[in-house]
Amino acid sequence: MNFEALGLSPDLVKAVIDRGYTQPTPIQLKAVPLVLDGRDVLAAAQTGTGKTAAFVLPILQRLAFVGAARRGQVRTLVLTPTRELASQVHESVMDYGSHLDLYSTVVFGGVKAEPQIAALKQGVDTLVATPGRLLDLAQQGLVDFSALEVLVLDEADRMLDMGFIHDIERIISLLPENRQTLMFSATFSTEIRSLASQYLVDPACVEVTPANSTTALVEQIAYPVDGDRKTELLIHLLGEEQWSQALVFCRTKHGANRLTQELLNAGFTTAPIHGNKSQNARQRALDAFKGGDLQLLIATDIAARGLDIDQLPEVVNFDLPSVPEDYVHRIGRTGRAGATGRSHSLVSANDAPLLQGIEHLIQQDIPRVHVPGFEPTDRPPSPDDTELKSGAGDLPSKIRRPRPASRQRKRSGNGSSQARGNDVDSPKKTSSAA
Ligand code: AMP
Repeated sequence: MNFEALGLSPDLVKAVIDRGYTQPTPIQLKAVPLVLDGRDVLAAAQTGTGKTAAFVLPILQRLAFVGAARRGQVRTLVLTPTRELASQVHESVMDYGSHLDLYSTVVFGGVKAEPQIAALKQGVDTLVATPGRLLDLAQQGLVDFSALEVLVLDEADRMLDMGFIHDIERIISLLPENRQTLMFSATFSTEIRSLASQYLVDPACVEVTPANSTTALVEQIAYPVDGDRKTELLIHLLGEEQWSQALVFCRTKHGANRLTQELLNAGFTTAPIHGNKSQNARQRALDAFKGGDLQLLIATDIAARGLDIDQLPEVVNFDLPSVPEDYVHRIGRTGRAGATGRSHSLVSANDAPLLQGIEHLIQQDIPRVHVPGFEPTDRPPSPDDTELKSGAGDLPSKIRRPRPASRQRKRSGNGSSQARGNDVDSPKKTSSAA
């Protein structure tokens, strides 16, 4: 089925064709007709499935049908967990609405509020926002929701994880009850279903992949290694396998900073991206990475959430995430839109229980690859080893010269595994003429 057959207007079809899309993704096939019908929708779709277009396209069609927002009013509100995701959704609104006469703006913390306030005063058809700053502005009476038609909770599971529930409840209490509400989440957890039952009316539920499944396009590999040799192994793999670029995940901001410094010392082009970095620093790092000026981007889960980086070939789990679902989000950064990708997990003895939790969640065995010269010597944690329970991410890791290693790597299946171990200017016209 093509985009016309989904019921989208010629202006929107033109915009997606401009972007090079030839056919709708499964989530778009399922969600677009429902949203066009005015239904509330609860959708389980991970980042990388085309979920943004699945709600942005039909919403823009609805908005364009009636005409542009009046001064001061907001017609659609999209709430996202992070600034980066808010920026990306706003960019998508601009792209998909490039042939329409509508306005969009984005509001998040960490940057001056005045330009955002000025943009809101003019009236916007689509407002993309993170909950904290939006609530701040709304409580000062600076946002008029009286004409709101559509609410989208994007990556709702992550907003709950990040503790935004009270902000979300307060924001929703300011919205008209008569509205269309869409909720997107990577998984349908109990909390998500409960949130949906509170705010969605007779929702249509759509799911494009079995819950918590990982994309088949991503080759997943786990490398058993001692916790203090992870940096060394990463450098070895970078050289051995000639990765062009990789997104590397660390569990903590401190860990991300430390690894960045170690990789800089080893001569790699890299930058960290995490919550302690200013919005400008994060955007600069992301732009440099997207532009190919950085080989490695070192991220924490929260900062990386929703990053849309086309054709990312390699994802590295330097530390395994403590929440297994984050693994699914992380590796969703690669293998997108038909491209293949690989996920490399560096697994110390302390990480072994986390790896088992991930394998249990995804119901899949992740093959272990033993890199010669990096065979682990750490012993697995025992229940009595309380000091070992915090995970290798907290242990210092230092760079050592790689021990002589053959280019040949031994592969073993899981069964035989020895894994011990912005300023926002005035509202932007979505039309490209703006
Ligand atoms: P999302 O899941 O919204 O983060 O989208 C993931 C990526 O898929 C983005 O780079 C989109 O531009 C891209 N995309 C969305 N819809 C399509 C489509 N129908 N065909 C090809 N790529 C798409």
